[in-house]
Amino acid sequence: MKATLFRQHGGPEVLEDTDFPTPEPKAGEILVRLHAAALNRMDVMVRNGWQGLKLELPHINGADGAGEVTGLGENATGFKIGDRVAINANLGCGQCESCLSGRDNLCSNWHLLGETIRGTYAEYICLPARQLYKLPNDFDFHASAAAALVYQTAWHSMVTRGKVNAGETVAIVGAGGGVNSASIQVAKHLGARVVVIGSNSEKLKKAEVLGADILIDRSKESDWSKAIFIATEKLGVDVVVDNVGTTFPLSLRALRKGGRLLTVGNSDAPRFEIDNRYIFAKHLSIIGSTMSNLADFAEVMDLVVAGKLKPVIDKTFPLKEAAAAQERLWRGENFGKITLDIS
Ligand SMILES: [Zn+2]
Repeated sequence: MKATLFRQHGGPEVLEDTDFPTPEPKAGEILVRLHAAALNRMDVMVRNGWQGLKLELPHINGADGAGEVTGLGENATGFKIGDRVAINANLGCGQCESCLSGRDNLCSNWHLLGETIRGTYAEYICLPARQLYKLPNDFDFHASAAAALVYQTAWHSMVTRGKVNAGETVAIVGAGGGVNSASIQVAKHLGARVVVIGSNSEKLKKAEVLGADILIDRSKESDWSKAIFIATEKLGVDVVVDNVGTTFPLSLRALRKGGRLLTVGNSDAPRFEIDNRYIFAKHLSIIGSTMSNLADFAEVMDLVVAGKLKPVIDKTFPLKEAAAAQERLWRGENFGKITLDIS
């Protein structure tokens, strides 16, 4: 099969468009002919590598993908040849106490597809049947690939963990990233009022199209917690979605009493100082999560295929131009998801 892989960690130049053995489905696994993959910032971090990251080289990037079932391993059930499927990258072992109780994201042997296991920048992939979501025949592969990781992540954080309610005000730090554009839509779907803090007016305009009610341009207002106070009659917001990290001090200030700070990652540095007085004096909660579980994935994908949540696609590149696609993502030039065409 064709794949874009790397044999050593490094910059975009280590990505190589080449032939690689087509995987064969083991018992319980399904072979999928991928037609689309979607990029995540994690892909670039894995390509660069970090101390302690354990993976087998050559490695294939990619957590998100969608395609057609072309092979079934022994005892693989629930799918037939020709079914169109989206991939859930959240890989629990399927056997431990956490997995059996529906909390597969807490699995002690948890893996993320494309991080420690070869991913979707390839023509074929084999996965356990439980990792696949059956798509309607007319649903687009690129929209499916663009949806899978970011919507399940936003849904699990905001619904299952953060318990965002109708009528609450949710501030989202950043406008362009895939999880942030998904978070705007999930918050609106839940009936919340949405404040978006964006880096420029162009991205804020796009956030407004997705439903953002209040727009704050951080290039003009570096202390955007003040702007939030003014916009909320000095109450602050109920929830902040902060996947930047170093902005936690401002997020903690922007929260009202009893507020929740939700985080699923850090696009900036992972270490920073926070003032503990905000946390106890305002009864704040900091709620972390990553990805979701199988039930949340199915629930949010049902909303995606029903058109209630609409994946935002920034740009599509051919698979062999994955390096250019990753550069666009890493420079933050995108609004929404970048996908790869694997036709
Ligand atoms: Zn498990």
